[in-house]
Amino acid sequence: MSKPLQDRIARQVAQIPRSGIRDFFELVQGRDDVISLGVGEPDFAAPWHIREAAIYALERGQTSYTSNLGLMSLRRSISKYIARHCEVAYDPAREILVTVGVSEALDLACRALLDPGDEVIYHTPCYVSYSPSIVMAYGVAIAVETRVEDEFVLKAEDVAAAITPRTKMLMLNFPTNPTGAVEPVEELEKIAALAIEHDLIVITDEIYSELTYADEDHGQTPRPHVSIASMPGMKERTILLHGFSKAHAMTGFRLGYACAPQVLTEAMMKIHQYSMLCAPIMSQLAAVEALENGDAEVERMRKSYAQRRNLLLKKFGEMGMPCFPPGGAFYAFPDIRKFGLSSKDFALRLLEEESVAVVPGSAFGEAGEGCVRACYATAMDKLEIALEKIGNFVSRLES
Ligand code: PLP
Repeated sequence: MSKPLQDRIARQVAQIPRSGIRDFFELVQGRDDVISLGVGEPDFAAPWHIREAAIYALERGQTSYTSNLGLMSLRRSISKYIARHCEVAYDPAREILVTVGVSEALDLACRALLDPGDEVIYHTPCYVSYSPSIVMAYGVAIAVETRVEDEFVLKAEDVAAAITPRTKMLMLNFPTNPTGAVEPVEELEKIAALAIEHDLIVITDEIYSELTYADEDHGQTPRPHVSIASMPGMKERTILLHGFSKAHAMTGFRLGYACAPQVLTEAMMKIHQYSMLCAPIMSQLAAVEALENGDAEVERMRKSYAQRRNLLLKKFGEMGMPCFPPGGAFYAFPDIRKFGLSSKDFALRLLEEESVAVVPGSAFGEAGEGCVRACYATAMDKLEIALEKIGNFVSRLES
């Protein structure tokens, strides 16, 4: 007799949960009345000059494979961009690998480096892929919690307490999805010192690094992004991940990259060449255009997110919903504990009663419980309606 198919799934896969975001969004599917502050996706289409570059690529018949590492022209553009934006130099011939989104780069980094039982420290609440990527590569995911009281700053002392002789890697994401936290430079320096002291490899996912904010309505300027890879002694132990989905609004182009010392790039490339071969050439050509001529559009979108962020913070303030001002990404992570509901019940009832979707904080790890994630990459008019509805909902909870 044949075994049930369920019993044939690899243990490594069977043990990882489905994404909590996906479960929640199945409830929203097919409902036109819902305003979604749920999905972490820009409401802008990719800028027109970038779309044109992809169209021209097709018109010219550029439909072939590329080098496994990615087009040399794109790797040169990435190298220039990262030198300018993150202040660290990578050799386009040997230290840059173009991938299918940061998602693939994350998977490659874990698979290239982890042996069974190696521990990886990551901070929660965090992007839903981190722990599964570690587990699928046979690593052991060690969560270090960040807290709403600290505005979700990752404390170096908490990282130090989680390090064991089996720790091989540290996985960082600033600005952070889902909290919008930006790590203070002094804390990042202490974390870099720990990585050097304990000889750890650092994976730093900097996909939101262009999107940083301050109270710009009151004359503040956003703090420029600081990459841990640029700190002394760090480039040689760091894999820097970045991509085009967020700041360039190119989610559907599915393009990202990993910058790392040659030996690590070579190891990731081995997996990439057998599993993916290369990233799509049309996307790569569009990405060259994004990096060479895209700054003004990125800034236009960032300014628009900054306005939406300020509106959200003002309205949450008026509703009495505590929310620390996020320094980056396009998420706010308000504290809903005073309403006496779990984050899941809060999100479910908000959806049922007011047709507004936010994501329960618990979808991003236990440390996210007590908060919900509201993505403000949603058009201003919709955001205004959603905020009014959230206001009605919380005043009913309080009455
Ligand atoms: N990393 C973080 C922190 C994210 O929030 C996301 C998407 O939401 C990704 C990676 C995935 O990016 P990509 O579209 O480049 O695969």
